Amino acid sequence: MYFLDKQLILGVSSIYTQKNEEADVINVCFSVCERGSGFRQLVPRRLVAHLRYGAGEAGRRIPLVEMSRPSSDLAEFRKVFAKAKHIAIITGAGVSAESGVPTFRGAGGYWRKWQAQDLATPEAFSRNPSRVWEFYHYRREVMLSKSPNAAHSAISECEARLSRQGRSVVVITQNIDELHRRAGSRHVLEIHGSLFKTRCVNCGHVAENYKSPICAALHGKGAPDPNTRDAKIAVEDLPRCEEDSCKGLLRPHVVWFGETLDPDILTQVEKELEICDLCLVVGTSSVVYPAAMFAPQVAARGVPVAEFNMETTPATMRFAFHFQGPCGTTLPPALERHETEVI
Ligand SMILES: [Zn+2]
Repeated sequence: MYFLDKQLILGVSSIYTQKNEEADVINVCFSVCERGSGFRQLVPRRLVAHLRYGAGEAGRRIPLVEMSRPSSDLAEFRKVFAKAKHIAIITGAGVSAESGVPTFRGAGGYWRKWQAQDLATPEAFSRNPSRVWEFYHYRREVMLSKSPNAAHSAISECEARLSRQGRSVVVITQNIDELHRRAGSRHVLEIHGSLFKTRCVNCGHVAENYKSPICAALHGKGAPDPNTRDAKIAVEDLPRCEEDSCKGLLRPHVVWFGETLDPDILTQVEKELEICDLCLVVGTSSVVYPAAMFAPQVAARGVPVAEFNMETTPATMRFAFHFQGPCGTTLPPALERHETEVI
């Protein structure tokens, strides 16, 4: 249902409402990247119409669109939280940004002369694997000096506490920096892979890899300054597969632009979203990928969705709660022990 077989959704490009006979329909256009072509196109997709009908004057039915802004009442959220048995927490770049992790996206987000979308592609890797490995080597090394923040900790502590009560917390994240795991979260679905996993382009073997540097030739390379010259490392000196006599070239096990998400991970995400009775969207807007793919279907089941991010929510998206501000500040009081928790 995510039309992801051949396309990677890059983001929501526009949202518009449309009238038809029954309802105001919210349409969302995603910008997508076709595999191999790098070509962007728009795919309109009907999301949800949050409508109910009431009797108007003279018995005429008129739609009562619930356009009220989400609640920012923490006490109300805590009542819902206290009853939830399965909590799904969707996290995005904002959570990592509060730990100082660079994204190489948007204004000022450059590594040398490039942004992530220039280097995080299969085409860039086949053209210049040395440069792409320098970029990822730099990103891995940067993580040595970064730590999980209060939002990561609040999520992992909540998971540990609730698991003792027979309740579950799952983190569904687009972040590849493993800060959720480092904070202690155990049930984490990394939909974009990890900086600390490699995949062999020859045999496909996926392995954890925390070496620093990942190979001798990358030692001291990867500087982000725009005047830095490419290291031009020979392909045989780049990270290589250590499986029995394979020695194939390794690549970062991350989802690049133009690539599809792992169907096994998506199946797990789907299962979690079907059973969750509370959904949090943290560090990303629920109208921006990836939360835009997941949160509306949860809300459509009548399950409360709570956003914790820096931006306001378009009023048309009727989620239950919205808490504005840095999630390192807003999340801990929301997820701390509730008075009804006895363990
Ligand atoms: Zn291999």
